[in-house]
Amino acid sequence: MQVRPFGQRLIAAVLPPPRCGACDAQMSAPARPFCDACAETVLPLRSRDPGATGAFAYVGAVARALARLKSERRPDLGRVLGDLLWCAVEPQAASLRQVVLVPVPLHPARLAERGFNQSGLLARRVARRLGAPLWPSALTRTRDTPPQATLTRDARRANVRDAFVAREPEHVAGRAVLLVDDVSTSGATLDACSRALLDAGARTVFRSVLARAGY
Ligand SMILES: [Zn+2]
Repeated sequence: MQVRPFGQRLIAAVLPPPRCGACDAQMSAPARPFCDACAETVLPLRSRDPGATGAFAYVGAVARALARLKSERRPDLGRVLGDLLWCAVEPQAASLRQVVLVPVPLHPARLAERGFNQSGLLARRVARRLGAPLWPSALTRTRDTPPQATLTRDARRANVRDAFVAREPEHVAGRAVLLVDDVSTSGATLDACSRALLDAGARTVFRSVLARAGY
């Protein structure tokens, strides 16, 4: 694992929330996702394994903010975290001009329960920054699978195999797709989604994941 310093570019590119995205402390400095103490817990990653990519380690402020987004149903934090993801995507932006963004979908039952797809919120923010179209319903999750983090590596692959289908292939056929997910553990979900997109005729699938667990 290689670790990059938490750079000024990262701080400058993120819009100012009035409070820290992780601990909710009030902040005076503008254009930052997290307070000073929380920012020190952000661990950028440079993956050597494209199958299990992630921009940041699933620890500290990033993990806390994601937990708040999902468990406390705070879709407003999607903006902070989406801008954080954008910091990782931006260096490759020139090669992503023609992509359509597709989030890893939730099962419809879980989407109804939560009210939003957190990966869709991240993808919306990155799409806006990139100036690229977003197709949030391009993929459908056909099975409500247990969370990947609760399973062994082999079980993760079996868990998500054939769990995704591209129901609207006309929106991805012949296109380069940027697949967006909030957390990746083994990359099995991303592999399954990529396969569904390629089966639907996508030309190529890039991956953009905010956090990697078990890095
Ligand atoms: Zn904080």
